[in-house]
Amino acid sequence: MALREILVVPHPVLKTISAPVAAVDDDLRALMDDMLETMYAAPGIGLAAVQVGVAKRVIVMDLARPEEPKAPRFYINPEILWASDETAPYEEGCLSVPEIYDEVERPSRVKLRYLNYQGEQVEEDAEGLFAVCIQHEMDHLEGVLFIDHLSRLKREQAVKKVRKQAKAA
Ligand code: ZN
Repeated sequence: MALREILVVPHPVLKTISAPVAAVDDDLRALMDDMLETMYAAPGIGLAAVQVGVAKRVIVMDLARPEEPKAPRFYINPEILWASDETAPYEEGCLSVPEIYDEVERPSRVKLRYLNYQGEQVEEDAEGLFAVCIQHEMDHLEGVLFIDHLSRLKREQAVKKVRKQAKAA
């Protein structure tokens, strides 16, 4: 396993639409292992492959609390089969937009279909933080960041702030 570099805004690759995965094989599992290690090191609770510069429809996630055992989750070619009309706000952040947090409103429940680490098809219902996180990560697969859900002014301020941090680092 190896740590990968996490791209931050305004890196153009983050705007890429990720391609479907053709086969869940050892190469893909190696990528997912690297992504997981990179996410834990950041630390974060979700990471899409495009955030480490690989435009494939792959997401890793771990929603366990710090005191709980690690519970890695892997989502390959995820699709939303259903979303609730009911929405809920949540203060989101993103490893590609460091130090910026803002409220985004999304459907509070969704039904998902995806391939897991073994390449098996799974259907699963998501609510709460899980629903927020999977929708945030699936946005990445379309080249959409959570700041794209904010006003243009807030989005521009966020990118400016991240640029400033990068210069100071
Ligand atoms: Zn993100």
